[in-house]
Amino acid sequence: MCGPTIATMSRRAPRCPACPDSPRGVPLVIGLPSPEDFAAADRGEVVLGGCVRMPGPEAEWACPACGRELFPAPA
Ligand SMILES: [Zn+2]
Repeated sequence: MCGPTIATMSRRAPRCPACPDSPRGVPLVIGLPSPEDFAAADRGEVVLGGCVRMPGPEAEWACPACGRELFPAPA
């Protein structure tokens, strides 16, 4: 499967440790982006993660500044 998926959970987005001055993480779009996804990415509202996933846990958030995948801090 490679459909577009946007994490719409209302969990708190983590902040990128490499970009302390950047906004909080934005939802990471997994799968083939739609035109709306591209437009949202241009606005810095989401990060496009692409279809090919690395093994391991899937990130739901990414840094809008550097594109780094972010994971919520353990509660
Ligand atoms: Zn960053």
